[in-house]
Amino acid sequence: MRIENDVKLDFNDVLIRPKRSTLTSRRSVELERTFTFMHSGRTWTGVPIAAANMDTTGTFEMARALTRHKMITALHKHYTVEELAEFFSEFNAPDYVAYSLGIRDEDFEKLGRVLDAGLGSQFHFVVLDVPNAYLERFIIKVEDLRALCPDHTLIAGNCVTNEITEEILLRGADIVKVGIGSGSACTTRSMTGVGYPQLSAVIECSDAAHGISNPATGVGLVMSDGGAVNPSDAAKAFCGGADFLMSGQFFAGFDQSGGKVVERDGERFKEYYGMSSSAAMQSHYGGVAKHRASEGRDVLLPHKGDVHDFVDELFGSLRSTATYIGALKLKEFSKRATFLMVNNQLNRSLEPYE
Ligand code: 5GP
Repeated sequence: MRIENDVKLDFNDVLIRPKRSTLTSRRSVELERTFTFMHSGRTWTGVPIAAANMDTTGTFEMARALTRHKMITALHKHYTVEELAEFFSEFNAPDYVAYSLGIRDEDFEKLGRVLDAGLGSQFHFVVLDVPNAYLERFIIKVEDLRALCPDHTLIAGNCVTNEITEEILLRGADIVKVGIGSGSACTTRSMTGVGYPQLSAVIECSDAAHGISNPATGVGLVMSDGGAVNPSDAAKAFCGGADFLMSGQFFAGFDQSGGKVVERDGERFKEYYGMSSSAAMQSHYGGVAKHRASEGRDVLLPHKGDVHDFVDELFGSLRSTATYIGALKLKEFSKRATFLMVNNQLNRSLEPYE
């Protein structure tokens, strides 16, 4: 047994120190970034924020909405090849779509059918997604996926430590997805005791990733996945070194989100559930297998309306952070950031009256 004594940080353990700034207007803050990816060699420009590949957030409707803001939607993996073909026949914005799969044989077989159907040009990104990227089998699958999709930008994870970040990048991923146990619909920490505070995971994994490069193209990148509750958490992730941010909670509960709509006492709610929750396993696999435990929550969120309004608020918040820290662009967030460790992040005294 070993104990690591340095304290690992979550988003709500820190605040960002304000810095002298020459910015004159929030409007001039550039939230788009341009990356060239180390393996695919492709260049991408957009706002590096993605809706998670969950049933409730990685929907076709979300992709149509977020594309307008140059944001990514990671489609959930339960769409059939026919549904994907129909969607892509009238949607043409490959840069803002990610195709998702797991490491099971049927996931790879389905991807083969998608590529055979000529749909590979309809999405720039492929996400290889497992809850635990520490499995040797996962690392092998990263190599298999790179061989199958040499020109796609591959996002793979999830992990939370530097050595696996490096390994995933060296095996062929362009972007490592970082986060274990931090998701809002995730119960992994309470069920297993395993996890890593999200901000420290991002700081440590991005440091490792940015040290790996392909001289002809770019450096390794990370996507912070899960745990962002407020727009400020997105700012903190970018300040911590995240190149991309993925969120489920940000994009749940909207008109464009998936999940059942429920009315109670005249109020509308929308379902949000983890992909390892009983609800998800019931709907996709006919129940929770005996050897597994549900590691996800199933909740009803007050219906939030149109996701475009939220995106405006999120962008406004990021631009405001930029003015406080003197960053002209999202790209400068991590260079400009100093975190303060705090005991108390927010003044909640008026919340009971809201
Ligand atoms: P959020 O943005 O809601 O905090 O977290 C979203 C992330 O939680 C997803 O992108 C995914 O990585 C993770 N996640 C989604 N469903 C589950 C689940 O059922 N169990 C666990 N452990 N993690 C989940």
